[in-house]
Amino acid sequence: MRMVIALGGNALGTTLSQQRTAVASTAAVMAELIAQGHQVIITHGNGPQVGIIHNAMSALQREDPEQEDTPLPVCGAMSQAYIGLDLQAALDRELRQRGFGRPVCTVLTQTVVDGADPAFSKPSKPIGKFLTRQEAEELSAVTGYVFREDAGRSWRRYVPSPLPVDIVELDAIRLLLQGGAVVIACGGGGVPVVAEGNTLRPVGAVIDKDFASALLAEKLEADMLLILTAVEKVALHYRTPQQQWLDHLTPEEAEAYAGEFAAGSMLPKVQAAARFAASGTGRKALITALDRAADGLAGKTGTLVSR
Ligand code: ADP
Ligand code: MG
Repeated sequence: MRMVIALGGNALGTTLSQQRTAVASTAAVMAELIAQGHQVIITHGNGPQVGIIHNAMSALQREDPEQEDTPLPVCGAMSQAYIGLDLQAALDRELRQRGFGRPVCTVLTQTVVDGADPAFSKPSKPIGKFLTRQEAEELSAVTGYVFREDAGRSWRRYVPSPLPVDIVELDAIRLLLQGGAVVIACGGGGVPVVAEGNTLRPVGAVIDKDFASALLAEKLEADMLLILTAVEKVALHYRTPQQQWLDHLTPEEAEAYAGEFAAGSMLPKVQAAARFAASGTGRKALITALDRAADGLAGKTGTLVSR
C-alpha cells in the first residue's frame, strides 16, 4: 500500500540532542512498514526546530549589525534540511540492518498557498521569542511584522496559516518514488510560496503539516494517510469525565464533529484525515500513536477515517 506518514512533534523531540535520540525509534517504526512492503512517503512537523533556528538567527542579528533579518521561509528551509538529515541517516541505518537498503531522500518542499487566502488577513500562529512591548514596536517599525500581546504578558510575532493548494516539487517526488526511493517531503508543511506569474514568492507564513500531508497524499493517489502523534486515538470530550475514544469516523462525521476538537492540535488532524478519505474511493486515514502504527494498520487501534 502507498502511504503518506505524517510525523508529529513527539517523533522528533524538542531539542537538537533529543531529536537524534527520537529519530532512532521513529526510523525503526518506518523501517518496519517499509519491510512489510509498503511504499512510504514521510512528512513531519517542525514547530520546535524552526523556533530554535528563528531564535538563533534573531540573536545573531542582535549581535552583528551587519547581519540581515533571516526570513521565515529560510528558517523553514533550514529546518526541513536539518530534520531531513537526521531522519535520512536514521532510516538508512534501520533499513540496512533489516537488509532492505534503498535510497532515502529528503525533498526540500515548497507548498503553494493562495495569496487571497482569508488567513492572510488574520495572522493566527505565534512564532519566535517573547518580546517586551517596546522591542515589538521597534521590530515592527523596521520589518512590518505583526505583533500581538500573548497571554497578557509579552509580545510575539503572529503569522498567517493559510491552507496549502499545491506542491511545487510533486513531479520530483513522483520520480523518486518510481525509482524506489523512500521520500521525506513537506517538512513543516513546506515553505509557503505564492504564485505570481511564472515566479514563486516565499511568504512569511506557516502551513499546517497535517493539511500539507493530506494534500500530498491526495496528489500522490496514496491509499492511506497515517497521522502519527502522541495519542492512540481521537477522543470526543477529550480530558473530561465524558471522554469517549473514537474507533471510526466517516469523513462526514469527522467534519460534523469539527467543533469538538482543539484548534491547532487535534482539529487539523481530523480535518486532514476527513479530506483525504473523502478525496477518492478506498482512501483511508488513520490517526494513532507513533508506537502503535503497526497495530493501527492491523485494525487493532487508532481512529480510522473512511467511508
Ligand atoms: P503533533 O505534534 O503530532 O501534531 P499536536 O500536539 O499538535 O501533535 O496534537 C496532538 C495532541 O492533541 C495529542 O497528543 C493530545 O494531547 C491533543 N488532543 C487535543 N484534543 C484531542 C482529542 N480530542 N483527542 C485526542 N487528543 C487530543
Ligand atoms: Mg500539531
